[in-house]
Parts: sequence; C-alpha cells; structure tokens
Amino acid sequence: TSGNPLLEVKQLCASYGKVQALYDIDLKLERGSIATVIGPNGAGKSTLLNAIMGVLPSQGGIHYRGKAVERTSLEQRVMAGIALVPERRELFSTMTVEDNLLLGGFRRVRLGHAQPMDQLATVFELFPRLKERRTQLSGTLSGGERQMLAIGRAMMAKPDLLMLDEPSLGLAPRIVKEILQIVSELRQTGLAVLLIEQNARAALQVADYGYVLELGQISMQGESEKLANDSQVIQAYLGFG
Ligand code: ATP
Repeated sequence: TSGNPLLEVKQLCASYGKVQALYDIDLKLERGSIATVIGPNGAGKSTLLNAIMGVLPSQGGIHYRGKAVERTSLEQRVMAGIALVPERRELFSTMTVEDNLLLGGFRRVRLGHAQPMDQLATVFELFPRLKERRTQLSGTLSGGERQMLAIGRAMMAKPDLLMLDEPSLGLAPRIVKEILQIVSELRQTGLAVLLIEQNARAALQVADYGYVLELGQISMQGESEKLANDSQVIQAYLGFG
C-alpha cells in the first residue's frame, strides 16, 4: 500500500438527530483496489457511504486524492469523481436503458467534454446485456439488469471512486457472481471500489481488503483472505452456505 490512498476517512461520525450511527470510522482505499464493508443489518453501512458522498452530514475527515472534501457539497464530490450506486438503484423506469445511461454522463458534459458517446461504448462493452437492451424501458428489466444499469450509469461519469451499496440485494447468486466479476475487472482501469455488502462471502471473494462494521464501529479489518479465514468472521458472517 502506498502512502497516498485515493480515499482516506478519518474519525468519521454521523448521527440521525440524537442517535449516533457512526463512531470514529477510519478507512483507506487505494487506487485500483476494492475494499468491502460487511456487517449486519443496521450497522451503519449505508450511512457510511452516504456520509462519504455528502448526502448526509458528518463530522471528521474525508480525504479524496489528498484533499479534504468533508466540507464540499454532494455536487462537488460528484464532479471530483466520486460516484454512489444507492441500494434502491433509483433508475428512471419510464426511460430507456440508453437514456438512463446518458443521464449519468452529465458530469463529463459539464466538464466540457463532447457527447459522452465514447463512455457509452465503454459501458456497453462492460455490460453487453445493456447494449442488447438499450432501447428497452428500464422498468421492464430484470433485477440483475437493473443493477447493471445502475452501475453502468454511475460509470458514465468516469468516476475514480465507485461506491456500491448492496449490489447483491434481491439477486440470484449466479447474477451476483456475474456483477461482482465485472466490478472486479473495473479495478484494472485504476478504479477504486468501496463495496457495501451483507453477502459477506461474495464480497470477501472479490475485495482486496475488508472492514467489519458493527453497531457503527469498525470491529475488525484486514486483507480479505485473512478475514475470510478468521474464525470470528466465519462464525458471525460466513457460517452458513
Ligand atoms: P442495512 O443493511 O439494513 O441497510 P446498514 O448497515 O446499511 O443496514 P444504515 O442503513 O446505515 O445501516 O443504518 C444505521 C443505523 O441508523 C440504523 O440503526 C438505522 O435504523 C439508523 N438510520 C438509518 N437511516 C435513518 C434515518 N433516515 N433516520 C433515522 N435513523 C436512521
């Protein structure tokens, strides 16, 4: 690991009113790597991503490409290259696959690039299924295709940091594998991925590094392989299946 991670979160705290959801979270993510945050329901995983994205207010440090971004707006973070695929995917169901993707390209248009057609071609290469279905209304896609579209739309902005909130939610194991395989290939382009998952087994298989989040605190961390072989992790998160 280098001394200059793409993302470094320091002592991050977040609350909902009087209820604290995150306690002093420290986390690092290197370029071209995948880190996963696993943990039970309600541990604060979505809260963590939303705080990093700037959707939720938080206290503490968020350093991105060596700069403090914790005081910048959501929009500024998007423009800086941070992308979040929320758990609810939030697609425009009455629009076609292609139009949903083009919407995701607005950052590049704003940055003065020409039409984001080159990026569309890249996303279609990544997800050939989306290309086949590009004129189909996104509301008629299968669950797996919708998740691919949500990730593809985020990739249209050419982010450096892609945050995925439970991409496996509601999907068949085979589809989960397919999507995580594609996510793992994205690493080769230098993209860094922060993957939030309840499916700890699948997440640790694809990630380089893992964090366990419990009751708003990081309770364990380490290289994915080590975590996957840790008896406590096995007992709590990998025990079945
Ligand atoms: P899940 O996998 O169920 O989404 P999670 O690990 O992502 O869980 P969060 O959604 O981040 O957990 O929730 C962390 C804690 O904050 C939970 O106790 C939750 O009830 C609480 N919480 C989340 N959103 C809100 C909100 N909008 N208002 C109040 N409390 C909230």
